[in-house]
Amino acid sequence: MAAHAGKTAIVIGAGIGGLAAAAALAPHFAAILVLERDHPPQKAIARSGVPHGNQAHVLLLGAQQALSALLPGFEADLEAAGAVSFRQSADGFMDFARIGKMTPFDIGMNCYAASRPLIEAVVRRRVAGLANVTIIEGARVEALLTSSAGDAVLGVRHAGPDGAPVTLAADLVIDAAGRNGTLSREMLARTGREPLAATAIGMEIAYTTGIFAIPDDAARAWKYAYVVAGPPADTRSGLLLPIEGGRWLVTMVGRFGDRPPADHAGFLDFARGLRSPVLHEALKTAVPEGKFARFIAPGSTWRHFERLDDPPRGWLPLGDTICDFNPVYGQGMAVAAQEAVWLRRLLDDGAGDLAELQAAFLKGLPAIIAPAWSASINDLGFPQTIGERPPDLAERLRFAAAIMMLGARDWEICRLWMEVTNLLKPPTVFQAPEFRARIGAVMAEMAARA
Ligand SMILES: Cc1cc2nc3c(=O)[nH]c(=O)nc-3n(C[C@H](O)[C@H](O)[C@H](O)COP(=O)(O)OP(=O)(O)OC[C@H]3O[C@@H](n4cnc5c(N)ncnc54)[C@H](O)[C@@H]3O)c2cc1C
Repeated sequence: MAAHAGKTAIVIGAGIGGLAAAAALAPHFAAILVLERDHPPQKAIARSGVPHGNQAHVLLLGAQQALSALLPGFEADLEAAGAVSFRQSADGFMDFARIGKMTPFDIGMNCYAASRPLIEAVVRRRVAGLANVTIIEGARVEALLTSSAGDAVLGVRHAGPDGAPVTLAADLVIDAAGRNGTLSREMLARTGREPLAATAIGMEIAYTTGIFAIPDDAARAWKYAYVVAGPPADTRSGLLLPIEGGRWLVTMVGRFGDRPPADHAGFLDFARGLRSPVLHEALKTAVPEGKFARFIAPGSTWRHFERLDDPPRGWLPLGDTICDFNPVYGQGMAVAAQEAVWLRRLLDDGAGDLAELQAAFLKGLPAIIAPAWSASINDLGFPQTIGERPPDLAERLRFAAAIMMLGARDWEICRLWMEVTNLLKPPTVFQAPEFRARIGAVMAEMAARA
């Protein structure tokens, strides 16, 4: 606490990452300004600064727990705001490519489903309520300001309400402005640093989402349904989530130029084309509310800020600025919030000056990002995906398929698999000898059948 008390911080962006970062800093900094280019609406509706906000946003348990650690009582707030609680697996219909339908086990994992705007509104309300945090809306940051030697970030320049530039100084600037990391990459280039190394796994992922009133005949064994694509040939997915207001949020996902239509008939047709008829059946009598929303994501990109030799002092990246993941794995909010928890832990543990804090934070990023990134590596199993294939890719894909196969019928593996996909445990847990042996047996079984 003492090391940073009295210092001021600026956080760029009031998305989930920026808000979580502000919450992480709050006990340790005198004043935190969050600069947001949008005027986020009071109501839980999507806004232009987050163009993907209409799309399905699964709140993984990893996100839920990280946000609760930063904002105690977050889950109760979410429920009070209308989020729908459900039991992971037990309340789900899940059907995976090559594996088929999963047995709905009760694995003791309680989750919430809500629209992204509602999740963000709940987090924003809590963060705005912190005494030393101020969210300034309509403040588009144009540049990170640096020392003349380029060895420190000193503040930011943003456009004021009348468009005139405003400069603000801070001891620490956190860039949580989202996908691409443009502001930080521009600052690093301007201060003479080499372009950042990045790893990309390129595949076009097209989302179309509709909101539906839940039909009266919707007495089903499941609360949510997920039909999941898988390499090499099954490229279409569909997800149905119950959200606030007694509605279903339904997303269709296509890859490699197969874009789900944004009209009702075309959307239903795409749903009919999924491997399982469950979503099409459910939607037959459901009435859409408003327009369908589309978004196209380019895959996954990890910008390796952790490899910078001499990062300028007084600056940290966070959230999608560092890594944007293939959205189908639902990881972005969890990773951003876990990075913020990491920042809080370093501050709580008394990380020395800001340079030490920065070094420790950047060094710890791969341990947070790599477990999530391992899911994107599976995308390389689609022949059309662009990216460097690890030499053991085929083995990895067989291993992943065997985990799913086993998890579909075995409570213990199902629970572990869900803990891994919810970013509560790293995928390395499956390397324990007792699991390896069982997974190996299933791999042999699958090979014999192939
Ligand atoms: C289609 C899609 C579906 C997704 N589904 C899921 C999911 O199921 N689960 C999940 O956990 N994640 C999902 N994600 C990822 C998730 O949206 C993000 O990873 C997560 O919100 C963390 O993002 P962030 O806060 O870093 O960035 P963002 O959410 O993009 O927020 C950035 C903020 O910065 C503001 N901003 C940008 N530039 C400036 C500037 N110059 N000055 C001031 N403010 C600025 C923006 O207005 C915005 O408020 C999905 C993403 C996409 C694209």
